[in-house]
Parts: sequence; structure tokens; C-alpha cells
Amino acid sequence: MWTYHPELLATAVPRYTSYPTAADFGTLEDGTLERAIGQAEGDISVYLHIPFCEQICYYCGCNTAVSGKRARVEAYLAALHQEIATLGSLLPRSARVRRIAFGGGSPNAILTGEFLAIVDALHAHLPLFAPEWSIELDPRSLSAAWSQVIGSVGVTRASMGVQTFAPHCQKAIGREQSLTMICRGVDWLRAAGVTSLNFDLMYGLPHQSEADLEDSLDYTTKLGADRIAVFGYAHVPHLVPRQTMIPEDALPGAAARFAMASEAHRILTGHGYEAIGFDHFALPRDPMARAMRTGTLRRNFQGFTDDPAEVLIGLGASAISGFPGLLAQNEKHTGRYRQLSGEGRLSARHGIVRSPEDQRRGAVIEALLCRGEAQLPPDLVAEVAERLLPFLTAGLAALSGERLRILPGGLPYARVIAALFDAYRSLTPRRFSSAI
Ligand code: SF4
Repeated sequence: MWTYHPELLATAVPRYTSYPTAADFGTLEDGTLERAIGQAEGDISVYLHIPFCEQICYYCGCNTAVSGKRARVEAYLAALHQEIATLGSLLPRSARVRRIAFGGGSPNAILTGEFLAIVDALHAHLPLFAPEWSIELDPRSLSAAWSQVIGSVGVTRASMGVQTFAPHCQKAIGREQSLTMICRGVDWLRAAGVTSLNFDLMYGLPHQSEADLEDSLDYTTKLGADRIAVFGYAHVPHLVPRQTMIPEDALPGAAARFAMASEAHRILTGHGYEAIGFDHFALPRDPMARAMRTGTLRRNFQGFTDDPAEVLIGLGASAISGFPGLLAQNEKHTGRYRQLSGEGRLSARHGIVRSPEDQRRGAVIEALLCRGEAQLPPDLVAEVAERLLPFLTAGLAALSGERLRILPGGLPYARVIAALFDAYRSLTPRRFSSAI
């Protein structure tokens, strides 16, 4: 069991899917992303954002809308096709696309024919080199037809948004899906050739008890998920207005959330899952667990990943592209995204050029979150010494010379410890969620 130190978790901190974080982005000069893409070499990964869902869950902070308005979906997909063609015209011959991920939203909220047309466009315009395909799926809109398409494309990695199996919690978050529906989805995906299946689960949900979480973990392990992400629900209705639908007085308090995170860790590691970073778990055979063991785990906009590529190009409204020296976010507003993309232009006008100092601090933060330790430059040891002391004193971290290690009991504090190296923080604390 982890020890709860509320004073050390009092500050809201970023999830650090990038450093600097998206909250630190500013305006980019026209053509910045185009120039970075023109210099991309070797293996690259591509992410495609499909911002539609059949139904919108009350808790969701994603950039997504209901898929019922067909004309809107079709116009968006036309812009995405144009953006794929534009990317193809910019990429140098030396670039090789090795991974393709579909996320959202729910990629399976569009029609199977529309999905296959996007896959065809990727083959036609981009230098694909036996890429690994992955997709995020909403079990509520998964069908036999969708699983056949997933099999025909060669998707081997899939992630299902499950969140909780408890019906009363599902009702409170506006996401009702039966156990039968999830079981059927698992069978379909396995038959389609998915070898790495992730379940997203949540703790800290309205009306959720520890027993509810334990039941959800039990179903998940019995269904054989290869990976499990256990996220803490972040209640920030001032940033995500649809969360006002969630009854605030039914949310577990901070100590209960901590206990739930601790239980999830205990139960899943007890079932043979390896802890990956601070909120993921994977069976030892899964590539994510192998990356953890070999010290090659990375963190990018999709969270923890075994993807070694230095370049990730995001397509679609609000998608973020990452390069060692640049982070660039596409236009979030789908109307403006469609207009720019339709003109054959990339829509990223927002982002940050990563300075050598950003890259140096980003490497420390990534090492702490992915490997649980980092070799610190001497000036950073001196800079954080005073703020690090409470974590050292509490036995949550250890500093030997310039080597900082997060100790096993320090895992729930990893984001707070990593944030000590963030030169941008203290500026916008309200924009982040609690660290547990
Ligand atoms: S299905 Fe996923 S992306 Fe869509 S609203 Fe629900 S949580 Fe958000």
C-alpha cells in the first residue's frame, strides 16, 4: 500500500504527454510545421484524429462532437483526405511511416467505408513501411462489420474505452454499456487479429466505491486485457462544461481517490501485470512491458508508448505533431481546420519551438515518468534541492549524487516530482488535474 501525503499532492500538475505542455503553446509562424516535416527523416509515426462519437460522455474532455450530422462528418473527412495528400507532398523520400494510430473521439463513429477510404489514402500518399496500425474504439459502436474491417486493414493494437463496469457509475457519467457488449467486442477484436488490447478504466467516478473499482479490475483481467490504463477522473467543469452534468457531491474525495489508485496498483500487479509509468499496466508479453524492462518506454501525446520514433505527425483538427525541436497543434475549430486543409495548407498555427533548454528539461521529466529515474545536470540538482527535500524525507525518492530515483512508494507522486523540473509551471496551475 502507498502512503498518502496530502500536502505533497496538493498542487495540480500536467500529465506531461509533452514538455513544454500544450498549456504553454503560443503562436507559430506560418510554415513552421511544413519546414519541420520537410526535414523529417527515418521512421515516423502518424496519428489521425476523428473528432466524432455516437454519444458524448459527460466526463469527456476530448475535442469531439456527435456523429449524427452526416454532412459535417463528410466535410471533415474530405479535409482529412486533403491533409493526407498535403503531408505526402511535403515528406522527404527518406521518411518512412512505421506506425499509424487512429484516435479521437471514436474512430468507429464514422462508417466503415469512410474508414477504409482513409486507409486507402494513407497507402496512396504516404511512404508506408509495413506500419503497425492501432485504433481507439467505443464498444457501444463496435460491430461485427467494424471488426472485419479492423482485421482486413491489419490493425493489431486496439484500445477500448470501458471506464467502469458498474451500472450506477456508468449512468452518472453518461456512458452505459453492458458487460455483454464489452465481452462481444473483445471476442470480435481477438478474432480480427488484435494482439494488444487495452482497456481504459477510471477511478474517482461519481458514486464509485473501492468495491466497484475492484469489480471492474476483476472483469478486465478475466477478459484478458493485455494493457490497462487506470486514469483518475479529472473534474474540471470550468474547463470542460459538459462535466457540469456530473454530480459533484457524488465524487470520491482526495483520500478515497488515493486509496483507489493504490488498490488498482496492488490488484493488477498481483494479477501479474507490470506497472508502466504511473497509470498503465501491461502483461509481461506485451510490447509496452518489454519497453519498460528494456528502458525504452517513451511518453508522447498518446501517453506511455513503446514507439521509438522521434517524429509524430498529427492529422485532423486539434491533433499535435511532435519533433525534437517543435510541438505544433492543428487548428482546434473544425470549421477553420476544414477551410485551411481544403486550401492544401496545414492548419498548425499554435505550438512551441522547443529550445535546447526545453529539450534538456523534457528529457529529465520523460526519464522520471518512464524509467523512474534520471541523471540530473548539476544546476538542476541545485535548483530543485529545497522543493525535492520533502519527497526525499518521506522516502518517496532518493538522490545519490546527481542520480534521482523515484522509489516504489513514490509512484503516485511521480508527476509532482517531475513537475519540479518544469520551468513553465506556477504560471497556469488551474489548468491541470490533481496528480492522483
Ligand atoms: S466515447 Fe470517448 S471520446 Fe467519445 S465522448 Fe465518450 S469518452 Fe469522449
